[in-house]
Amino acid sequence: MPKRASKLTCEEFQRYIAEQINAGADPEVLERHPHANACAHCRQLVQDLATIVDAARSLYPDASSPRQS
Ligand SMILES: [Zn+2]
Repeated sequence: MPKRASKLTCEEFQRYIAEQINAGADPEVLERHPHANACAHCRQLVQDLATIVDAARSLYPDASSPRQS
């Protein structure tokens, strides 16, 4: 795990977001990321993504992760 997550540049963080979303991560987890807490621009980006992911999951429930939570 990166120890200096909050020191990520916006570009690095946005690449990280894309990787996590592609891997099926919950956007709410990304909203709690230190960079998202420290950077209003990226926080807004994550919130927009969360809205899109929620919409996509409601359209395509079969594509959602099988995790219970
Ligand atoms: Zn940022």
